[in-house]
Amino acid sequence: MLISKISLQTFKELPSEAEAISHQLMLKAGLIRKVASGLYTWLPLGFRVLQKVEAIVREEMDKSGALEILMPAIQPADLWQKTGRWQKYGEELLRIKDRHKRDFCFGPTHEEIVTDLARSEIQSYRQLPICFYQIQTKFRDERRPRFGVMRSREFLMKDAYSFHESEDCLQKFYKKMHLTYNEIFNRCGLEFKSVEADTGSIGGNLSHEFHVIADTGEDSIAFSTESNYSANIELAESINLQLKINEEKKLKEKIETPKVKTIKDLINFCDIPIEKTAKTLIAYASEEASSELVALVLRGDHTANETKIEKLKLIEKPFRLASEEKILSTIGVNPGSLGPVGLNMPIIADKAAANLVNFTVGANEDAKHFFNVNWGEDCNFTEIADIRNVENGDASPDGKGSIQIKKGIEVGHIFQLGDSYSKKLNVSVLNSKGKKFYPVMGCYGIGVSRIIGAAIEQNHDQSGIIWPSSISPFQVVIIPIQMHKSKEIHDKTYEIYEKMKKLNIEVLLDDRDVRPGVMFADSELIGIPHRLIIGEKSLAKGQIEYKSRNQKASEMISVEKIIEFIKALII
Ligand code: ATP
Ligand code: MG
Repeated sequence: MLISKISLQTFKELPSEAEAISHQLMLKAGLIRKVASGLYTWLPLGFRVLQKVEAIVREEMDKSGALEILMPAIQPADLWQKTGRWQKYGEELLRIKDRHKRDFCFGPTHEEIVTDLARSEIQSYRQLPICFYQIQTKFRDERRPRFGVMRSREFLMKDAYSFHESEDCLQKFYKKMHLTYNEIFNRCGLEFKSVEADTGSIGGNLSHEFHVIADTGEDSIAFSTESNYSANIELAESINLQLKINEEKKLKEKIETPKVKTIKDLINFCDIPIEKTAKTLIAYASEEASSELVALVLRGDHTANETKIEKLKLIEKPFRLASEEKILSTIGVNPGSLGPVGLNMPIIADKAAANLVNFTVGANEDAKHFFNVNWGEDCNFTEIADIRNVENGDASPDGKGSIQIKKGIEVGHIFQLGDSYSKKLNVSVLNSKGKKFYPVMGCYGIGVSRIIGAAIEQNHDQSGIIWPSSISPFQVVIIPIQMHKSKEIHDKTYEIYEKMKKLNIEVLLDDRDVRPGVMFADSELIGIPHRLIIGEKSLAKGQIEYKSRNQKASEMISVEKIIEFIKALII
């Protein structure tokens, strides 16, 4: 293709709103343009990449035996009401009304629609297992759209749903899908890890996420230094190897702590180790609790894990912390001086906090703290639970090695859902004995558009993108020097270009009448793997300069051999 024909507009300046390098490069290289927050147009170059990724996903899904379908993006509310997700999904669900004032939503995912489809399409166990998939636009009204196409509101997802007669069959298929996902991400040239994950609002028993390890990742992944253990930090269990501290218990002492609002203020003011402090959070209680609020106590150096907390019986779903005003009106203290002593509500202590001896906490009086507090003597907990995030250096939950935390971009997610959707939507199938059963389901998502951002995060340098060749918009870029002044250069360039096109080599010819420097910079920015420079001096010697995008040095190749040379690189 001719560059002059693809309306390429690249930018030198970094777009100011883009935090992630992939977002910056996608805008700079003219792959996408922003329409509104979290909404993008894919320009010709970017769209080619999107189609490449889509083709890889489609090929591998087809290989797995999954059947491609296309469901509507707009979904009727009544199906969502039946599964309870019309309420539960929250503000990410874009709800719309049609002209008859009937409720609909723009699908953020398709469990409801596909389960309803199973009602009409699957009657007998003989049709199972079956897996339907689609590659389609989803909409999620994200609280904070950012990183360009990596967390957008409208995005392309591959979603697949499988139906089975038994858990056993689901597990076999789940393993197969795991392998299919490995193949897809490998083919996209990504370095990735599959990790155990939380099943979240979708429900179900088991799930794995596929993460591209990159600093801009929004998820934290816990890895063991010694074993294969890896899990999203949302799920990673904290195990307490540390036994009770062998220290004589002292008498508690109230101290004045003016201006102390945070744990950091407290350790600076009192000069005590942070591990000897505890912080108290106040959350809304579920109906199981005897009071409106519940206290959560964590060691001062630890952070609360909302996913774990939300699973506790005593906690309201979704998990909600009490506001400063609520704390002041109910407990009569500002959050900076909260503590478990004398607190009239259930107290959940984190495993590590429950081990503390002679620790420092807020005294439930403004600007006052207690030193040397002890469980049993000064306060009691209702239960001990794992409610914190694991940290670098913690013992790995499998007992082998310690935890190391890295940032990950979630590009895929697979779930074993069980029969909750088929039950809620009352979709049953006949077994070999003619008896009805609810099929168990799996669901399998891939962020097709997110893959592109993630691939750039992993493959770029100072000058721009370095596409993995499998998803590059073009394989070769030809840069002729002064073609508009030299007939010889012009003819040779077009001769090579046409030959390559005949061989179905995806070639881009920079036919613009611009300075060579501009052509070089653009070719590096848009990241085409192979570059040929056709210049007068080298051509006089019968040579063309070749440079690979991911190598510094270039080499001279004879004109006669250039096509063969490129062909060998691409295949
Ligand atoms: P996240 O935790 O990043 O919000 P999720 O758990 O909500 O992801 P799933 O519901 O599992 O995501 O969706 C399947 C896949 O769709 C994800 O693995 C991810 O690659 C992609 N995806 C989800 N949300 C977005 C988004 N806002 N923009 C682009 N891709 C997304
Ligand atoms: Mg999400």
